[in-house]
Amino acid sequence: MVKLFNTLTRSKEPVEGSSLRIYSCGPTVYNYAHIGNFRSYLFADVLNRTLKLAGYQVEHAMNLTDVDDKTINGAIELTKKEPGKYADLKSALAAYTAPYTEAFFADLKTLNVIKFDHHPRATDYIPAMLDLVERLIQNGVAYEQDGSVYYRIGEKKDYGKLSRVDLEKNKTGTRYNTDEYDKDDVRDFVLWKAESKDGVHWHSAHGDGRPGWHLECSAMIHEIFKGGIDIHTGGVDLIFPHHENEIAQSEAGYGAEFVKHWVHCEHLLVDNRKMSKSAGNFYTLRDLLQQGKRPEVIRYFLLSAHYSQKVNFTAEALHQAEAGVEKFYSLWQRLTRVKKNSAQADAEFAKTSAEARAKFTAELCDDLNTPRALAVVHEYIRAANAFADARQDVVAEADADEMMQTLRHFDKVLGLLDLIPKTGVSGDLQALLDERNAARAAKDFKRADELRDQLLKAGYKILDTKTGSHLEKV
Ligand SMILES: [Zn+2]
Repeated sequence: MVKLFNTLTRSKEPVEGSSLRIYSCGPTVYNYAHIGNFRSYLFADVLNRTLKLAGYQVEHAMNLTDVDDKTINGAIELTKKEPGKYADLKSALAAYTAPYTEAFFADLKTLNVIKFDHHPRATDYIPAMLDLVERLIQNGVAYEQDGSVYYRIGEKKDYGKLSRVDLEKNKTGTRYNTDEYDKDDVRDFVLWKAESKDGVHWHSAHGDGRPGWHLECSAMIHEIFKGGIDIHTGGVDLIFPHHENEIAQSEAGYGAEFVKHWVHCEHLLVDNRKMSKSAGNFYTLRDLLQQGKRPEVIRYFLLSAHYSQKVNFTAEALHQAEAGVEKFYSLWQRLTRVKKNSAQADAEFAKTSAEARAKFTAELCDDLNTPRALAVVHEYIRAANAFADARQDVVAEADADEMMQTLRHFDKVLGLLDLIPKTGVSGDLQALLDERNAARAAKDFKRADELRDQLLKAGYKILDTKTGSHLEKV
């Protein structure tokens, strides 16, 4: 059973049930996501993969915020740059967010994040948001003023239970119109914001307007999952006000427990400093790839620290990540290359392998402890290399299979094998392909078939075409 640290109770708790509904706050598509954002998305991926590895059924949604203060500002800039091009600001908003949405999906793929089941976009759920606004008014916790609707936080007795904000600082009767504000300044927050005909707006009983950011997640979760959820994730910066306000809206509007486990991922620092454009240490994934950093190394780096700890992005840390990835890949490639015989499996080593798999899973089940899980992986890599060294790379087929199966088990969460550089395929695989082609040319079909099977076990099939033979990932 998986245990997770729950921000709500400040304690580690078992995740009950066999089929889980999960929601992760995703990107605001007003820019390319930066490496700090990706920490949070990869954390959602590790959670997803770990739960599946532990045998849970998972239905996982990650939203896209495509209407909020930031995206609207971007749309306004766009209309200034290209006056007369857009029929209205709403279509400029769609044009502004589209390339960032596309880039986000491409980046997730680059980092081998498993596809989530749902990627709701806020602008597709406006009716559900308006329905929630009405429920909140009817239930006496929301009020209209000048065409906007606000949540009266004083009406919810346990407001603040997640962030534990000091409600003494609540400026009763004062309101916020913006989506983001400070923890030291707790006020009523906007659910529905009045907009002029020139602004991004939808029609509502309260006049033209658009949803506040917090409202979006509450309404989408209800619409997708038709009730409360098991796990909600996001970065620590979302605890207040975003997640606090989601709780207030959902519990007062839908009348049931909203979320069982709140799990939050810490910040990423760059060279020990907060990342910011003005400090010149702000990197998108694309910036890093352009600098020649490899996706699998970035992925490994982001997994190397526990999600609840700050992680420091430095050249040295990336070097270490690269060394870790190389050790994993080189054992994998060694196993595709070793000579195999039909000797009996080594019972002792089979036990070592089984224990490593179990320990890896257990470390992840314990609040997603990725650093300890990686330590298990490297201990195993050392043992497997020593085993192959002792036999001078001639091992029983059963032993080689056991080792590959163990690496594949680790990879269910690490997600590295899919990212083995494909450019020209790695040297070892190419050598196998060359040897197979030579065997075929010499009409040694038995050897050619053995090599074909070895490549297949390494995850590649051979495509023989007029221009030659190529490897393709299975
Ligand atoms: Zn959210």
